[in-house]
Amino acid sequence: MSERDVPVTRRAMLAGAAAALAGVTLAPGIRLVEVAQAAAEPGKPVTSKVRWGLLIDAGRCTEGCNECVLACNRENGLEGGARPTDPQWIRIVELKDRRTGRKASAPVMCQHCASPPCVDVCPTGASFKRADGIVLVDRHTCIGCRYCMMACPYKARSFVHEPLTAQKPEVPRGKGCVESCTLCVHKIDRGDGTTACAEACPTQAILFGDLNDPASAIARRVAEVRTTQLRADLGLDTGVRYTGL
Ligand code: SF4
Ligand code: SF4
Repeated sequence: MSERDVPVTRRAMLAGAAAALAGVTLAPGIRLVEVAQAAAEPGKPVTSKVRWGLLIDAGRCTEGCNECVLACNRENGLEGGARPTDPQWIRIVELKDRRTGRKASAPVMCQHCASPPCVDVCPTGASFKRADGIVLVDRHTCIGCRYCMMACPYKARSFVHEPLTAQKPEVPRGKGCVESCTLCVHKIDRGDGTTACAEACPTQAILFGDLNDPASAIARRVAEVRTTQLRADLGLDTGVRYTGL
């Protein structure tokens, strides 16, 4: 299965060059890095024993459904995609099998790669991966150079062009920064045990959980059914897996 909306080739990495500082507006008193280093469950430290991920069953996605996208926008205070420059953390992508021509559609967000190219190219360390596999951007050290957007093979990242209003205090964002799906890290860290997109899906097509825990629902499902990673040939070991493609 190939993905129409994901480019096959990654552009060559831009080398060296210092980038101009972009204006950064933050919610007062909130530092993303502090949010990111909070406990994965209240009172517990972030640990590599856990690997948070999603299993998306494209066979359960119904035509025209956009509930996960709307839920992500609501949860994270995103503008909703009305303007072409609005950040979008999750989008519905049509996937086509090159051999059979079979089509399916499924949500695509940051794939939370174990070997994330966005982290490799970031000149300031703003793009980082937590011990539990969640890939994030620290808005305080992001300089808006957008190297990570070029490095991401899934087009998962957006740049914030416009001034932000009505931000959610638990989801700090900043004009002039790059952002992408956080795997609803604020919900995970307060112990919700799910993501907004998974909660909102009317057909339970999105399953959240710990891929490292053989007893978890997601790990058991991954062991039972044929799953795939988008562009598995790139060897990025994504935390988002797909079935029903
Ligand atoms: Fe980085 Fe893109 Fe992988 Fe997310 S999907 S970790 S933004 S390279
Ligand atoms: Fe959006 Fe959260 Fe789903 Fe990521 S996990 S796409 S941030 S709702």
